[in-house]
Amino acid sequence: MPTALSADAIVTAPKVLLHDHLDGGLRPATLVELAEQIGYEGLPTTVVPDLARWFAESAFSGSLERYLETFTHTTAVMQTREALIRVASECVQDLAADGVVYAEVRFAPELHTERDLTLDEVVQAVLDGVQAGTKAAEVAGFRIRVRLLLTAMRHAARSLEIAELCIKYRDDEVAGFDIAGAEAGFPPTRHLDAFEYMRRENAHFTIHAGEAFGLPSIWEALQWCGADRLGHGVRIVDDITVDRDGNAELGRLAAYVRDKRIPLEMAPTSNVQTGAAKSIAEHPIGLLAALKFRVTINTDNRLMSGCSMTSEMTSLSEAFGYGWDDLQWFTVNAMKSAFLPFAERLELIETVIKPGYDRLRAASPSAARP
Ligand SMILES: [Zn+2]
Repeated sequence: MPTALSADAIVTAPKVLLHDHLDGGLRPATLVELAEQIGYEGLPTTVVPDLARWFAESAFSGSLERYLETFTHTTAVMQTREALIRVASECVQDLAADGVVYAEVRFAPELHTERDLTLDEVVQAVLDGVQAGTKAAEVAGFRIRVRLLLTAMRHAARSLEIAELCIKYRDDEVAGFDIAGAEAGFPPTRHLDAFEYMRRENAHFTIHAGEAFGLPSIWEALQWCGADRLGHGVRIVDDITVDRDGNAELGRLAAYVRDKRIPLEMAPTSNVQTGAAKSIAEHPIGLLAALKFRVTINTDNRLMSGCSMTSEMTSLSEAFGYGWDDLQWFTVNAMKSAFLPFAERLELIETVIKPGYDRLRAASPSAARP
């Protein structure tokens, strides 16, 4: 196996991120400051390093209740226009510093209306924050494009309203729609009217599926709802059998996913935390990438998982021996799968991504795979 690439080198590589939650990526220090500003007293601690540790421990605890509790704290402080602008702006700057050149960041507007903001005001504030963050990143020497996905919660009944919001802001960097939340008991078909509306509007959406719940959830997301991409989709591996000689046989659903080039938005650390994968080394991403599924690498929740695109790529390089060719392949997969007009995707691949990896290969030829 070739030597793993170092985080110092990977941070400089151009990256594309399709699955990142705004309320899962706050800086711990910002969380403490915002809580103080709005008088939220529910944080487990206001000592910043302790708080960061508490999030990581809760996410790794194996308890879904503790994992979900982490989001009650982040959304509790994201209830004012100022807070949303700050969180969105810092998100863009943090992604830019991580080498991300294109990202789609998602959030559920309905989780930010506890005080007096309307759904429209929530979206406007996040859009303004993204714009401010992009400008600040540019000043710091980074080129980044960030678009938004609006998420509806699976257990709630506001999905059509959120889908309508996506269409209303489609010319303002709202790239598409998503549903998230507990899979079991809340199949995506509950929200068919929202997906049908999006399709009639020639708009794009992804669905969290195949994370906690297996193949039926993936099948519904694709064949009933018409999802363009799958959030995680890790359990598609349950429809693949590998014999002793390493030959893989794909079931009909897995074959469909591969043949149709359905993008899988995988987030290795998060998948281990939620039990969708046993460990990074045993993560199905290794098999799925070898079988040439349209696999992409994502962060999901940077705060809870204590991760970044750089740390995820570094862990995968260590576990599977990935070199620059492999990381470029994952990155191009993601760019091809973005909810961005074709010509703009091509432009980023040809003028930013490929030259970026060419430069890295030239600087460390031994790290490239033979
Ligand atoms: Zn997610």
